[in-house]
Amino acid sequence: MSSPPVRSAPIFSGPERRGRDRRQAPIVEVRPTYAHIDAAALIHNLRTVQGHVGPRCRVLAVVKADGYGHGAIEAARTFVDAGAWGLAVSLVEEGVELRQAGVLAPVLVLGGVHPGSEDVIVHRSLTPVVWAREHLQLLAAAVRRSGAPPLPVHLKVDTGMSRLGALPADLPALVDWLAGEDGQHLQVEGLMTHFACADDLDDAVSPGQLEQFRGCVATLASRGLHPPLRHVCNSAGLVRLPHAHFDMVRPGIALYGAGSGREVQLAGLRMAMSVHSRILGIRTLPAGAKVSYGHRTTLTRDSRLGIVPVGYADGYPRRMSGQAQVLVRGHRCAVLGNITMDVSMIDVSDLPDAREGERVTLLGAQGRDRIDVYELAAWADVIPYEITCGISKRVPRR
Ligand SMILES: *Cc1c(COP(=O)(O)O)cnc(C)c1O
Repeated sequence: MSSPPVRSAPIFSGPERRGRDRRQAPIVEVRPTYAHIDAAALIHNLRTVQGHVGPRCRVLAVVKADGYGHGAIEAARTFVDAGAWGLAVSLVEEGVELRQAGVLAPVLVLGGVHPGSEDVIVHRSLTPVVWAREHLQLLAAAVRRSGAPPLPVHLKVDTGMSRLGALPADLPALVDWLAGEDGQHLQVEGLMTHFACADDLDDAVSPGQLEQFRGCVATLASRGLHPPLRHVCNSAGLVRLPHAHFDMVRPGIALYGAGSGREVQLAGLRMAMSVHSRILGIRTLPAGAKVSYGHRTTLTRDSRLGIVPVGYADGYPRRMSGQAQVLVRGHRCAVLGNITMDVSMIDVSDLPDAREGERVTLLGAQGRDRIDVYELAAWADVIPYEITCGISKRVPRR
């Protein structure tokens, strides 16, 4: 670094701070709201996916968006230790975060090559997904500058998602460029595409995408290019299109224990994330009292309300107000009134023994009951991905 870091005055100074790394040790950790990440479930899910696709198919574990909210570094280490071939992220920044944490496995960057990121990609040995000639030119120039050996890249074709990827018709020109002099700085390790509708129960789209993909494989082969890693399937695809596994699959949500919907979940997965808090205090209020912002809820009986320190700033969506339930002592309690930024109110009238400090489960099992991610997603009218990705930074992961 060229200039010294700017230091602000210490907020707390005292013997208890001495010798501690401020980035790793929060000043206090008293908040009772936290997300529990079950590493054994992550390992189990990776092995379940590997068992499903068979030993010859590689697993590229998708850990973008901070490992779908589970913590990218921990998730990445766990998946690699459990046998994943490599990892996938969306952003170069996410790839750098893994490298800085000492992760050595291949890291695919799914989101493309933004001008200015090519030197970092080469320097950090990230594996970019490419689909445009500009990508190839930027990367080849960066490899030449650095004197590094040829950089593995994965070519992406757009077979119907209309998002990222070269159109099949544009492939021959890209392959010809790669066969030229500058192309020698790159090595096409993979060919990939992405399903648009693999999670639709009446999916009529994926077969056509697959056919196009096979055509692209043939296009490359006819020009002497045989990428060893052909890959197509996300979680839904690997469950529903067993003939589309090719050399590698790219599961994300399945590794965290869910599916894009209950019906497209691989059998035997275990949800890795659960979210818990504790009752901060109990209010006893008469029938007729109105609750929370907007006074949209009126108590219909004399009630005991539990105050729970979790709100939409934690990723507990406000639009679930009036629908959400939580578990206390293994029983379901309704969330009453609008969920606020930091606090929610729950009805514990039917649990006379419930008291301050009582454990509250917002996602996951407690006693014999469980609130699963599909239930939460339905209350919030979102997909399960948005629930785990949305649990915010201020909720510590344990
Ligand atoms: C996010 C992503 C995946 C993983 O999708 P899941 O539905 O979570 O399994 C796979 N491939 C690509 C290109 C992605 O962007």
